[in-house]
Amino acid sequence: MNVNQHTPMASPYGQPQPGYGQPGYAPLDGGYPAPYAPYNGPTSAYQPGAPPQAPPNSSQPPVSTAYTAAPPTSYAQGPPPASSAPTQPPPPSGPAAPQQYYGGPSPPSQQPFNSSLPPTSQQQFTPAPPPSQQTFPPSSYSGPMPPASQAPAPPVSQPQQSFPPPAQPTFSAPPASQPPAFAPGPPLQNQGSFPPRGPPPSSQPGSFPPPGPPPTSLSSGPYPGQMPPQQHPPPSQPSPYHSGPPPPALFLFCSGAFGQVRGPQPGYAGPYPGQPNYGAPAPAPAPAAPAQKRLDPDAIPSPIQVIEDDRAKSTEPFTTGVRGQAPPLVTTNFQVKDQGNASPRFIRCTAYNIPCTADMAKQSQVPLAAVIKPLATLPPDEIPPYLVDHGESGPIRCNRCKAYMCPYMQFIEGGRRFQCGFCSCVTEVPPHYFQHLDHTGKRMDCYDRPELSLGSYEFWRLSTTNNKLPQPPAFIFLIDVSYNAVKSGMVNIVCEELKTLLDYLPRENPEMDSVVRVGFVTYNKVMHFYNVKSSLAQPQMLVVSDVSDMFVPLLDGFLVNVNESRQVIESLLDQIPEMFADTRETETVFGPVIQAGLEALKAADCAGKLFVFHTSLPIAEAPGKLKNREDKKLIGTDKEKSLFQPQVGFYNTLAKECVAQGCCVDLFLFPNGYVDVATLGVVPVSTGGSVYKYTYFQAQSDRERFLNDLRRDVQKLVGFDAVMRVRTSTGVRATDFFGSFFMSNTTDVELAGLDCDKAITVELKHDDKLSEETGALMQCAVLYTSCSGQRRLRVHNMAVNCCSQLADLYRNCETDTIINFFSKYAFRGILNSPTKAVRDTLINQCAQILACYRKNCASPSSAGQLILPECMKLLPVYLNCVLKGDVLLPGADVSLDDRAYLRQLISCMDVSESHVFFYPRLLPLTKLESDSLPVAVRDSEERLSKGGVYLLETGLHLFLWVGASVQQELLLNIFGTPSFSQIDPSMTSLPVLDNPFSQRLREIIDSFRAERSRYMKLMVVKQEDKTELIFRHFLVEDKSASGGASYVDFLCHMHKEIRQLLS
Ligand SMILES: [Zn+2]
Repeated sequence: MNVNQHTPMASPYGQPQPGYGQPGYAPLDGGYPAPYAPYNGPTSAYQPGAPPQAPPNSSQPPVSTAYTAAPPTSYAQGPPPASSAPTQPPPPSGPAAPQQYYGGPSPPSQQPFNSSLPPTSQQQFTPAPPPSQQTFPPSSYSGPMPPASQAPAPPVSQPQQSFPPPAQPTFSAPPASQPPAFAPGPPLQNQGSFPPRGPPPSSQPGSFPPPGPPPTSLSSGPYPGQMPPQQHPPPSQPSPYHSGPPPPALFLFCSGAFGQVRGPQPGYAGPYPGQPNYGAPAPAPAPAAPAQKRLDPDAIPSPIQVIEDDRAKSTEPFTTGVRGQAPPLVTTNFQVKDQGNASPRFIRCTAYNIPCTADMAKQSQVPLAAVIKPLATLPPDEIPPYLVDHGESGPIRCNRCKAYMCPYMQFIEGGRRFQCGFCSCVTEVPPHYFQHLDHTGKRMDCYDRPELSLGSYEFWRLSTTNNKLPQPPAFIFLIDVSYNAVKSGMVNIVCEELKTLLDYLPRENPEMDSVVRVGFVTYNKVMHFYNVKSSLAQPQMLVVSDVSDMFVPLLDGFLVNVNESRQVIESLLDQIPEMFADTRETETVFGPVIQAGLEALKAADCAGKLFVFHTSLPIAEAPGKLKNREDKKLIGTDKEKSLFQPQVGFYNTLAKECVAQGCCVDLFLFPNGYVDVATLGVVPVSTGGSVYKYTYFQAQSDRERFLNDLRRDVQKLVGFDAVMRVRTSTGVRATDFFGSFFMSNTTDVELAGLDCDKAITVELKHDDKLSEETGALMQCAVLYTSCSGQRRLRVHNMAVNCCSQLADLYRNCETDTIINFFSKYAFRGILNSPTKAVRDTLINQCAQILACYRKNCASPSSAGQLILPECMKLLPVYLNCVLKGDVLLPGADVSLDDRAYLRQLISCMDVSESHVFFYPRLLPLTKLESDSLPVAVRDSEERLSKGGVYLLETGLHLFLWVGASVQQELLLNIFGTPSFSQIDPSMTSLPVLDNPFSQRLREIIDSFRAERSRYMKLMVVKQEDKTELIFRHFLVEDKSASGGASYVDFLCHMHKEIRQLLS
């Protein structure tokens, strides 16, 4: 609920809002006030309520200094690298050509719009019925469509907070002895000042000590200089994983030789009799349970144990100063102190000690990649990146590679020059930046300047290349008003919500109004633009019925300031549902909708975001028209890949135009059938936007989820017109990128919009030798326009160690990040290759990783033993989750749209989200402590007790599973009923009961929701109810209905693969 829990601000939504908490909308069938009903009362009564807080310095206009875009660096200029070694798993057709968006297929040649078409009709809006439509009987509609009019939607008055203003500390002059040679701008008020700090105890930013002792505490064990010291159970005496003292450095088992013999999981084998079979083509009987001995699941590596062990050992804040140190896992709560490398909240790496040579890297097959979330929101107890001003000439940079000033620059010659840590080039220090060095060779002001001592910071007051200040961005809302959109209640809900949500447009200074302007469009097969100029008494509608050559029929009055035009906007939002209440139009267009928004932004010469609320496959005659091509027969064939590719090239071309304008598109889908997400998602995915999908949207049960998503999406901080460049030290370079963006060359990741939830995964490859002494450096720089229209540059620096021993690599890997990389790699691969080939490639690469470890790092042992590196002992179980997920191995009732949607969604997930998505969190709720969460259990039916209640979270779904013989006390505490049969499985929120258990459980649910970027609807699942089949889908250690292997079986399979590679 509280989507912005991290905000330090008071909650503006928290105040009683006139008219807000009531049933949001009137019946569709006639309960509306007459058109032009009296204005409902100013929403201005609705106080933002933000506590006075000193304004950030953002009100200062950026100084127009000459920031020039970095020319391509010398080493990055080459042709696109052949980014895959032959043994690596690229799908046959190889990595995407750099010009393509998102690795998709090449856009078919663009169809030029025919501009010679007759002029579009415009008509003055009258309150008469909507523009003439041919009457289309809504016969095609067949979805469950509860009338939105009944059952007034639940009040939405939950406390909400506005998106936190960046509260970005600027770097103020140090009180230290040195004169404040920087921050020449006006005084920066009340921003967190950058305290002069003493040198961090462990390291010196900028000049990392040579890699002394190995970074992990595990060293010099029984295996000469390589293996960690912990004991591993002798093969003959296996210790169950859970009970041993510290976890063994290795995991050993002799296949089939130990572990209790188990039968198939009780009750798992088949679906319940007479119930729909979720995911399986037919209710297959129990899959031929191998009669052979089964491994004891308790004897194989447990994700829960790994998660708990990491939590137990991560009690201190994580300081980033030590190069090569792996951070705690994403499942651990920890505080970060920036001491020279970017926080793991901004960058996580697959390995923190990477091989010195390409040969070693190839031998190990461990992918080298970083998952970067440049604008990540930090928890309240961590300081957001400081703002740095380098004056009119812009940030100090290396002359050659153009890397920005950072802790890896070494000052020499008394401080007059500096040597670049990335390319070794020596650059003069400009006079205004000069500073003396101390006796250790460090600048005297080192700890007073973020760019000399911290991993992350932000340059501001940059000018654009042409010295023109960017216009403030605009938000345009484009609402489908076709039959389905109206009948589902969507139109009503959106219009009602916007009346209040528009007061929460993003802003950097909570005390000032947002400078974001807004505009409104409705459409079905024609487009309706609205003039909401403040001087008008009523909004005016302009209809464009010829959508073949989209243009915006009005300039003045389309994009307006919310406060100035409040009355007209409110009137419009009141009228839209009324105007289209009786529509019979079922056809929609889609291409022209985005074109309209794009043209409006072009006309206003600004960047911005389009919020498109859309319901159906756009079959009306228009550019970008689509046909229904859903063909389940193609699944599993070589042609399956075509289903993930856009069916027309139109949207690729449109996406490119959007990116050029800084036009980010967020798409909210409300489908009742196939809408071709693979094609409709092209523009959102290429512009850094998001796709939200509410299949069979029902106002009553889905309203809360949709509204929370919408609120968060509108309020969240977003950078516009962004370009990200990753620079690396000589010897390694960024070769491939995964995420929601566009690339027109091999180095620049272009994002029309970049929000705080989006991550970009970058693959690195060797192009030369690295040295253990210097390690490998990476600098990610993102230039963007802030929501107040400032040009800014955020810099994240990361240094990792380099090793000449494979064992060092295997000791410093992060499996969660490897899985993030592999899933994105595979999900892009299915655009070009059959899913089976992609799955096989993944299995093969993982087997090679583990075989290489076995061969080079483990002590000699019997071939019957599976030996896994400590840091990767969960690789098999997590990999299996990727392989058997809906994208790569769909069950029968997973739609193509679902798969396309998930594929796109995961492509921009950070490590924390991908982790919980692939291995959901399952909490037993028997006892709830007030200050901690119960320890999770493994995702297997075996772990569920009939007498218990469990909460399962995937980041997208939230289930409450209730066992059939659940204790009565639990029922009373949670549901207020003593009887299992009286639990209403259709509830989407738990009753508010006055007992500590109920209170704590609701708190936990709220906190889970606050952690995720999308609102998770709660689904109550009663054991043996039909919905349990959906729930079981997420018990990922079990065999899946779609044929996915159980963890135990998959581990045995991996073992076989590894043995084959070794023999
Ligand atoms: Zn350089």
